[in-house]
Amino acid sequence: MKTATLNRGKETKYNNQYPLIEEEDIYAHDHLKEGDLFYLVTNKEEYIATCYVGRQHKGIGWVLSYDKDEDINASFFERLFQIAHEERTYFYNLDGTSAFRLFNSEGDGVGGLTIDNYDGHLLIQWYSKGIYKFRYLVLKAIEAVFEYTSIYEKMRFKDDSLTGGFVTGEAPEFPIVIEENNTFYNVNLDDGLMTGIFLDQKEVRKKLRDKFSKERDILNLFSYTGAFSVVAANEANSTTSVDLANRSRSLTEDNFGLNGIDPKSQYIYVMDTFDFFNYARRHDHFYDTIVIDPPSFARNKKKTFSVTKDYDKLILGALDILGPDGNLLLCTNNSTFSLKAFKKVIKDTLENVDVDYELIEVMGLPKDFKTHPHYKPSKYLKAIFLQIK
Ligand code: SAH
Repeated sequence: MKTATLNRGKETKYNNQYPLIEEEDIYAHDHLKEGDLFYLVTNKEEYIATCYVGRQHKGIGWVLSYDKDEDINASFFERLFQIAHEERTYFYNLDGTSAFRLFNSEGDGVGGLTIDNYDGHLLIQWYSKGIYKFRYLVLKAIEAVFEYTSIYEKMRFKDDSLTGGFVTGEAPEFPIVIEENNTFYNVNLDDGLMTGIFLDQKEVRKKLRDKFSKERDILNLFSYTGAFSVVAANEANSTTSVDLANRSRSLTEDNFGLNGIDPKSQYIYVMDTFDFFNYARRHDHFYDTIVIDPPSFARNKKKTFSVTKDYDKLILGALDILGPDGNLLLCTNNSTFSLKAFKKVIKDTLENVDVDYELIEVMGLPKDFKTHPHYKPSKYLKAIFLQIK
């Protein structure tokens, strides 16, 4: 077995079960290749953990076990999947929801690997070449533990020779329809990196529907397939979806249609968010609830947008077209943008323009996206409902 030796004094955090092995904490790592197993040891050669090499974030790999005698084989993955499976009993038995996360990387014991269930069609996501080296063992264990109709995979690391897609089982015709809290959405597991729905936002969608939609005009920015609009539409007075991508129009219309809502009764704009701010201002359009759920980075024409630097511009743009007593739903899924920093941007931006506000709900990941207690970035999702006064 290969070893990686910690620099002197670096063992405390790993003894406290920090799961990501950070490059700067290791004495030398040139001998470690993607997919290698290794023992993490102190500078006095005391064993701490068994890990694998899979480069991600600031890390060279993830802890798999704290038991030196434990072999990393199909039974190892089977044991973890079995626990994860049991912990999802609630979701398997929940009426009105057929899609949820089955295995959430470090939260469930293997950083770099997620498995989602879309109504019996499983999606594996591999986040490094290293974890992909365990593909055979992981597949064997999945087949032994989880019930499924088909299995698909996506590569979340760069490798031009691997495309992902169908793995095994009975291939459905896409899109398939999944249900979440009694709303229906189209899903495609075999088309690019996104599937049509971000499962981690399910509780936020429900909150929007239950508390912030009734008889309101809702604006959904960065709307993608319109999930936030679709969930709100039955309660709302109107919904307006805005996304730069051409494909978003038909995907959003289809999701409305699935739920018995005439797409023509709702507004859809294929437009840059900042252009939409100008457009709505010029036409005196105002909204009662504005949803902002942007990607961490985006580029349009020559402009770039980064959530950590430019969130204030989104808030200010939205304020201009927010009606009296309006609400903002501000989201980010950027793991390097902490809740504290996000709240500070909100506070500074609103104080600067003398706007009074209240944080009504601060939400994060649902239970199926199990997080790791000693690894803060695993709580990457932040969703804040604001009351503007
Ligand atoms: N809020 C969505 C997910 C957003 S995914 C949901 O709940 O499902 C990010 C989306 O932002 C993509 O669809 C992308 O086309 C869109 N996008 C990126 N830059 C944009 C811009 N400048 N203006 C409008 N949409 C943008």
